[in-house]
Amino acid sequence: MGKKSATEGALLCRSFEKRFGSDGIAVPGALCGALYHPVVTQSFPLTRDEALARWRAFLPHVPAYAAGRNYVTMAPQRHVSGLSPAVRLGLITPQEIVRDTLEEHGYQPAEKWLQEVCWRTYWKGWLQQRPQIWRAWRQRVHALRETLPDAVKQRMEAVSAGHSGVAVMDHFARELAETGYLHNHARMWWASFWIHAERLPWELGADFFFQHLLDADPASNTLSWRWVAGLQTAGKTYLVRRGNLERFCEPALLQDTRGLERLEDGCVTAAIPREDLDMSPHALPDLPDRAPEVTGRFGLWMHADDLCLESSPLRSLRPAGIIAITSQPAYDHYRLSPQRISSLHAALQDGAGRASAHFRCPAGVLEAADTAAALGAWLQEQRMDTLVSMRPHTGPVADALPAIRRTLASLGIGLHLVQRPWEAQLFPLACAGFFPYWEKTSRKLREGLLT
Ligand SMILES: Cc1cc2nc3c(=O)[nH]c(=O)nc-3n(C[C@H](O)[C@H](O)[C@H](O)COP(=O)(O)OP(=O)(O)OC[C@H]3O[C@@H](n4cnc5c(N)ncnc54)[C@H](O)[C@@H]3O)c2cc1C
Repeated sequence: MGKKSATEGALLCRSFEKRFGSDGIAVPGALCGALYHPVVTQSFPLTRDEALARWRAFLPHVPAYAAGRNYVTMAPQRHVSGLSPAVRLGLITPQEIVRDTLEEHGYQPAEKWLQEVCWRTYWKGWLQQRPQIWRAWRQRVHALRETLPDAVKQRMEAVSAGHSGVAVMDHFARELAETGYLHNHARMWWASFWIHAERLPWELGADFFFQHLLDADPASNTLSWRWVAGLQTAGKTYLVRRGNLERFCEPALLQDTRGLERLEDGCVTAAIPREDLDMSPHALPDLPDRAPEVTGRFGLWMHADDLCLESSPLRSLRPAGIIAITSQPAYDHYRLSPQRISSLHAALQDGAGRASAHFRCPAGVLEAADTAAALGAWLQEQRMDTLVSMRPHTGPVADALPAIRRTLASLGIGLHLVQRPWEAQLFPLACAGFFPYWEKTSRKLREGLLT
């Protein structure tokens, strides 16, 4: 387990340097003992203004995205947008990103970028049709926590704390905890390392990501972990390989070579977990993609699946008030990191502020243990007889819907859920594999049908 010389380390990363130049990338962070301790500051847009500024700065670089996107640097990443927390929270929408991209560059030079942006919508639509996959993952997380032997739990803690002994994987574990973000390739490597090299349960690796990622998304996270595990696409498993790391990592990331021999090409073999889940799709509910006709006093419920109500189909409504609800018990349930909680609060505050200005009515963020009870109490107090909201996606917010429906029904208050036209058009296409979806979606993009 010798530490390779800097020259050897540099040779390992020839491909990276060939593409970007040996000193083309600034290298923050410092070597502390043998392992990297990434002392990084990386900020992600958590308001709409910041998201739009980040997007405007990235837009000219879209044509270079396809060539650079797989290369991983020390944080902050230079070859990808860093927009995912903002996209996740709906501070900026995929539709806006796609529209601006096509206006600025046209389809062909931006194809890879457009495909990745639409990949997210594919995962969302796929899971929306199979909520049982989300529920099964959460149940397994709780069951495994109860039943796993102590030795496995201790190993999981060591690996997620950055003490696996494979220096580059430990760097990524700490980078995730410190910044709330990892490059896509680093996510793939780390998930594969967890599942196929460490032979740990994918469900708890996915849970570790869900606790820390600022972009933590029930669809992208769960389904990407399933894909790496070999559960999502029959016969396809993603195996981490040293050669791949050497090709795509900035040299500094591999300068400490400890543990790399565990990832030698051919050393990591598939550990495909077994499961017996019904993957068949459920029909999507027939939701309107335009504002409902509401009479009387009504309120808007805003949540972290869509924080840009002023650009939504609800934009022309005249509500009497707007509410968003945060819940400490929910954060505790999902064991969210403090960084993830504060990012949610920042985005909700921003969403409420913009909504108040746009709809010209009071908007607030309320802390409450029980979302359904808090919504019911607010509506009664405000003497409102209807609640309108953008439809939450399969995940934590939508899990509260049955209780919300019951509470509102018991109070005689109506509930209207609305979806964005983007989702109405694309979610039904995400019924099978990505490539049939992309064939239809890219045709719509080229024909200007989605913008
Ligand atoms: C194990 C694993 C877990 C993941 N968990 C999440 C998650 O919880 N939330 C999340 O948003 N993404 C997740 N991803 C997908 C992807 O890693 C991130 O979307 C991407 O790294 C976000 O960084 P970016 O905005 O700089 O990406 P860019 O490369 O700049 O991409 C722009 C946008 O396209 C979308 N996108 C890009 N790549 C993907 C992809 N592979 N799958 C789906 N959408 C993509 C995102 O909305 C992203 O913001 C996961 C991937 C893996 C392998």
